[in-house]
Amino acid sequence: MYEAKQRGKNCIAFADVISPTADGEDVFSIIKGAFERGQVELFYQPILSFQCNEIVGFEALARWRHPKQGILGPEHFIGVITHSALSLPYGQWLIDQAGRMAQRFREAGYQVLIGVNLSQDHIETGAFLEALSTTRTRYDLMTAPFLIAEVLESTHFHDLDLACSLLQEAHALGAEVALDDFGSGISSITYASQLPLNTLKIDRTATRHVDSRLDRQQFISGIIHMGHAMQRQVLAEGIESQAQLDTLKAMGCDLGQGYHIGRPMAEGELIARYLSSQHPTEATGGYLLCRG
Ligand code: C2E
Ligand code: MG
Ligand code: MG
Ligand code: MG
Repeated sequence: MYEAKQRGKNCIAFADVISPTADGEDVFSIIKGAFERGQVELFYQPILSFQCNEIVGFEALARWRHPKQGILGPEHFIGVITHSALSLPYGQWLIDQAGRMAQRFREAGYQVLIGVNLSQDHIETGAFLEALSTTRTRYDLMTAPFLIAEVLESTHFHDLDLACSLLQEAHALGAEVALDDFGSGISSITYASQLPLNTLKIDRTATRHVDSRLDRQQFISGIIHMGHAMQRQVLAEGIESQAQLDTLKAMGCDLGQGYHIGRPMAEGELIARYLSSQHPTEATGGYLLCRG
């Protein structure tokens, strides 16, 4: 049984959303059932390169298509998945989905990477490497990276050297590596410099007010310079306005993600918007996918 303590901040969300439908079934069983019935799916949010002004990737974000409550965000269920026996099967499914989408884009002539949020145990047990290897073969993705393994800044790796070597191996299996939500917590310089990273993803709490507050600009400018000095690309999350986008671009930020560029969308919508036309449209925010 899943311990209430481990749920942390997700507790309230569970109580609010799931209890009315619970019928005495525990939260873990409900979520396990939802996952097994295919009610958990991935939404995709575009990642823009400021350099080429094209979409170079999509981050996969978990959603629960609840039969009664509608579409629920990850705060309602992802904690239960990643702290239970579902963690490994979910992680494998997640990487498989990313591979399937990457292949779909490649077949259409586009080179885009799919970002996935990996859980700590999926990394530390090395299970994600097996999933990468299987997926890469299954979808014939051998020629170029297809996935971005996002690792949370707040992760406490039990053995940093081991984490470094596992993530290093991931590069050889088609994955780039990004440090997620950087600047939201401890902002571990050790992680930023020692993990084999391609990208630092600046958390949206830092991006907010970047166009209006000098202290935010100085903070982000510092991260951009530090990232570049360490040969990492820097991505700003949570871009909600053209003013924020322009400021970040002028500051030398490499990549951006946020509602202003595109909202997370279901797979069907993604395909309709981005793969149905060769030309930039309003539905794609005026951007084209990268052809590599
Ligand atoms: P994250 O990885 O930092 O993902 C970005 C979050 O910011 C997403 O929230 C996205 O919808 C939201 N976002 C993007 N642009 C904007 C914006 O312009 N403004 C605002 N206000 N928000 C924006 P979401 O989808 O609710 O996901 C929350 C977190 O849940 C993710 O944060 C990630 O840490 C976690 N998560 C999502 N899917 C998975 C998963 O499959 N596995 C694991 N382990 N964690 C996941
Ligand atoms: Mg992420
Ligand atoms: Mg993030
Ligand atoms: Mg974040």
